[in-house]
Amino acid sequence: MIIVMKSHAGPKDIEAVVQRVEELGYKVHLSRGEARTIIGVIGADEYLIQNSTFEVMDGVERTMRVMQPYKLASRDFSAADTVINVNGVQIGGRKIVVMAGPCSVESREMILETARAVKAAGATVLRGGAFKPRSSPYSFQGLGEEGLKHLAEAREQTGLPIITEVMSPEDIALVGDYTDIFQVGARNTQNYSLLKALGKQQKPVFLKRGISGTIQELLMSAEYILSGGNMQVMVCERGIRTYETATRNTFDINAIPVLKETCHLPVIADPAHGTGMWQYVGAVAKAAVAAGADGLMLEVHPDPARAWSDGAQSLTFERFGRLMEELRLVAQAVGREI
Ligand code: PEP
Ligand code: MN
Repeated sequence: MIIVMKSHAGPKDIEAVVQRVEELGYKVHLSRGEARTIIGVIGADEYLIQNSTFEVMDGVERTMRVMQPYKLASRDFSAADTVINVNGVQIGGRKIVVMAGPCSVESREMILETARAVKAAGATVLRGGAFKPRSSPYSFQGLGEEGLKHLAEAREQTGLPIITEVMSPEDIALVGDYTDIFQVGARNTQNYSLLKALGKQQKPVFLKRGISGTIQELLMSAEYILSGGNMQVMVCERGIRTYETATRNTFDINAIPVLKETCHLPVIADPAHGTGMWQYVGAVAKAAVAAGADGLMLEVHPDPARAWSDGAQSLTFERFGRLMEELRLVAQAVGREI
């Protein structure tokens, strides 16, 4: 249930409602908007509460039952877009954020070189996998902590915040010692122990859509993190598995406007995994910006032909630089900037 307070409701009114919710054994999520405060009532058997319990209280305008199985992620809970600040980089605002870097951190030199190149072209976050979720156990699994150290050095040298994947709850402390944003990959979107653990810490989480996951399943996964108390979540469309074989995955462009309408979280597009082929990455990246995405995740490698993972979908520095120029024009056309 969501309790919408009147615009003139004072701190005492809000406190009284919060107390009543807690007395009844539910958790509270407060959203203080510019105009009014919204109180989210969280609990598995929330349907047992009567709307009238709160509607008679001072300062309460109305109560709403949220029909979706996700509540805190929904636009009903927060009409305003969530903006996440990562070391001064705003994610979810007017400026489109570009997170770029290699699929995997392969060495200190390559991540430093890539960080400098993507920064020069206008990227504002550096990506790079150190713990890699590979479909085959025989594929390169990532450099682990060594990769995290190289990423941290790249941040030091360039000032770019970093994003890297965490695959299990046991790794959160280690990865969290280095990263600015936790990435949850498509193979872990429904790893609920991981999501719950990420909900109990405060670093931002970048949550990818599952390989065969619906948009609603993505938002329910986001809800696991939000309901744990971490409101800094962004969601990412990265392509889904369909019957089409011409590309690695099918990038679901529809997901961008659907997510923008149904949730208030920043929506990021990943056209690299969405297509699997560098030739198509630019077209889909531009389409995603035109469709309203708040950011892009792009794979960039000094020498894609020699990449240890995802070389086929990685852009060279030069191609990335050219794409950034094109993206600037598209962003401008839809009232955004890069
Ligand atoms: C990645 O970002 O390199 C990755 C493994 O992505 P996904 O989880 O979307 O497959
Ligand atoms: Mn990859």
